[in-house]
Amino acid sequence: MRVPQIIANAAKPLFTFELVPPLKGRTIEPLMANIRTLMEYDPAYINVTNHQAEVVYLEREDGLLHRKTVRKRPGTTALAALIQHTFDVPTVAHLICGGMSRNQLEDTLIELHFLGIENILALRGDPPAGEKRFVPMSDGHTYSSELVEQIIKLNNGEYLDSSAEEATRFSIGVAGYPEKHAEALNLTTDLLNLKKKVDAGAQYIVTQMFFDNAKYFAFVEACRAIGITVPIIPGLKPLASKRDLALIPQTFHVDLPEDLTKELESVTTNRAITEIGIEWAIEQSKELYKANVPAIHYYTLGKADSVARIVEAVF
Ligand code: FAD
Repeated sequence: MRVPQIIANAAKPLFTFELVPPLKGRTIEPLMANIRTLMEYDPAYINVTNHQAEVVYLEREDGLLHRKTVRKRPGTTALAALIQHTFDVPTVAHLICGGMSRNQLEDTLIELHFLGIENILALRGDPPAGEKRFVPMSDGHTYSSELVEQIIKLNNGEYLDSSAEEATRFSIGVAGYPEKHAEALNLTTDLLNLKKKVDAGAQYIVTQMFFDNAKYFAFVEACRAIGITVPIIPGLKPLASKRDLALIPQTFHVDLPEDLTKELESVTTNRAITEIGIEWAIEQSKELYKANVPAIHYYTLGKADSVARIVEAVF
């Protein structure tokens, strides 16, 4: 089933979460155990993230550096299919423009279609670790709105080489940033770029994580004011460690509210941070639930137990 329909049919806010494929060479058992934990809470669907290859520089014998790309987390398509068919729950495969030509993207979409995956979260992707700027492939997309357009064409039976005719039937979600995307000049420009994705055919938006609900509510209002009418699903992440505190503002360009930072500064262990993170996410979720948001999307990042406690307290 497709996400827009699932949302339209729901009488109350839905619970959903996102999983990151394991590092290459690891087994999927810990991930499957996380899913088993969260399946008890009846998720409406499950997202599977997608990761571009990273760039590493290796020293050669002559002392010069050799630039090598390494794909660390392959397997999004296979995992999305495995999860959907094992747990009988719809999955959303993230698809990124980064590192992919239009033909490679089309091939991935064809595979997803064969496997019965009907939901795509269309993203540009970040620059690979080690690189500062996003550079598209020579025959790739610069912005995710172009990927949305490509998927819409496939949904109309228009393939790149005009040789096939069976139309796909993907639903398309896109990313939104209540605190602005890092590269955008300002929030207004970013919102207008978000509108381009929706005008191109995206049917719903999932937000970047935020820790202050006021930012989400203001974002929804600003979207509505410029004519974005699709559902806007808030994304939440329970904080879990000191590492999170160091990395989240840098990586995701979001603020941690003063009240939260005061609480976090009063403790020293990761266990205490996890407890504060869970309580904070429960309060955020309760308010969002009461505001009748379409769904709450949890960034689990391997912390299924934390998410289970939040969902137990809220849904
Ligand atoms: P875009 O929509 O292309 O926007 C990128 C930047 O370009 C923005 O600053 C925007 O304002 C600007 N822009 C857009 N269109 C135009 C235009 N036409 N002209 C000029 N400027 C424009 N990353 C991954 O690698 N894998 C994942 O699985 C993944 N999952 C995510 C899930 C969610 C819910 C979210 C919120 C983010 C996720 N990301 C993921 C991160 C995302 O890939 C990055 O934030 C990336 O930097 C931007 O992706 P985007 O699709 O929002 O890009």
